[in-house]
Amino acid sequence: MNRIVVLGGGESGVGSAVLAQLKGFDVFLSDNGKLSDESKFCLKKYGIPFEEGGHTHELIINANEIIKSPGIPEIVPVMREIRSRDIPVISEIEFTGRYCTAKKICITGSNGKTTTTSLIYFLLKNAGLNVGLAGNIGKSYAYQVATEKFDYYVLELSSFQLDGMYNFKADIAVLLNITPDHLDRYNYNFQSYINSKFRITQNMRKEDCFIFCSDDEITMGNLKKIVLKTKMLPISQTEIIEKDGACVIGEKLVANYDNSEFEILINELSLNGRHNVYNSMATAVAGKILDINNSVIRSSLTGFKGIEHRLEKVRKVCGIEFINDSKATNVNSAWYALESMHGKTIWIVGGTDKGNDYSSLYNLVKEKVKAIVCLGIDNRKILDNFGHLTPIIIETRSAKEAVEKSFEIGESGDTVLLSPACASFDLFENYEDRGRQFKKAVEELES
Ligand code: ADP
Repeated sequence: MNRIVVLGGGESGVGSAVLAQLKGFDVFLSDNGKLSDESKFCLKKYGIPFEEGGHTHELIINANEIIKSPGIPEIVPVMREIRSRDIPVISEIEFTGRYCTAKKICITGSNGKTTTTSLIYFLLKNAGLNVGLAGNIGKSYAYQVATEKFDYYVLELSSFQLDGMYNFKADIAVLLNITPDHLDRYNYNFQSYINSKFRITQNMRKEDCFIFCSDDEITMGNLKKIVLKTKMLPISQTEIIEKDGACVIGEKLVANYDNSEFEILINELSLNGRHNVYNSMATAVAGKILDINNSVIRSSLTGFKGIEHRLEKVRKVCGIEFINDSKATNVNSAWYALESMHGKTIWIVGGTDKGNDYSSLYNLVKEKVKAIVCLGIDNRKILDNFGHLTPIIIETRSAKEAVEKSFEIGESGDTVLLSPACASFDLFENYEDRGRQFKKAVEELES
């Protein structure tokens, strides 16, 4: 059990290779594409052999275990060969968990992962705890476990990372919601995607805590089918949670754990919108479980600045507010963005469709949207779904054009919302690129 091959030389792959090397394995890293100078520098520094621009199968199939980057799909030839030989394949998180004795707070869900992970990390930092931030966010978990000594980790976990996890155990797990996403990677089988998300609860024991959204039908439907030993902590905006968990009572968010209560007025939360009430609830419950002072929970929930590309206020020009929600790459997150809009909205939407069903947005669009600006190469689905619901619908091919057209249509008091409900790869490198181009175009508008 000595040879470990790491597939993919990005942040998580290089981190895994370093940790494996320091733990005495015979390590090899292979990447089909080009490695960054930074990755190469780090691999050389630790004396780790690697290849780039292709996979040499002989050097890979002699591994006892493969650590695969979550970005590599199962269908590529090297993965097929690995599977046909039954070589165990794990994720960076699984591997690193073996060497991490810190308490692990793990967050997953279709939407809200990065926001909630960042918020919980902010809370733990404010509480003075020695805490690391990792997973789908920031520096590699493996690299941090190899080089740092934290008492706590807050980990953002995607379904792809969860897929490669078997013995890993969270101390506190948060499952925010489950809506159809990434179905292309799950053979269009929604249940497979649900099962991946539920892996966050695997191996949990009775002293561990599971925070979940009891308003989420998919989560609740699935919970009926499985038995969990862990403590259950529901969060809800529609029902009163009598015991451990969180809910809304009147104007307040109330969180409880072990007969100790925390409450805060919803309009004091620094993050706006109904979705962020869930994210704040999960954070408050995690804070109570960790026995963090109510005053620290309060100051964290009121003082958090938010993160780029998530309902990020860019600028007001001639009374028109521009909001960058480029990270809304699926229908559900766009729903929450539209739901949180006050006044008339010019909605910039479109990109690479991931099999979207737009019907849940019809009412919101009728109620709030005065114009739709499509931003994508193929906008047919958007035109078909919404063409009859708004007085204005136009097509654009760049962030600049979308911003300028929206500005022409807009009047003082309106909001221009980029919340695309689609991936960005048709016109942009990624959602960050889309968000930054949008912001740049907004900055360039003449007021
Ligand atoms: P993720 O990391 O899961 O992709 P983010 O925190 O980056 O989630 O937020 C992505 C998008 O989802 C944002 O556009 C945001 O407005 C929306 N969102 C955030 N939290 C939630 C939630 N709890 N439920 C639904 N949508 C959310």
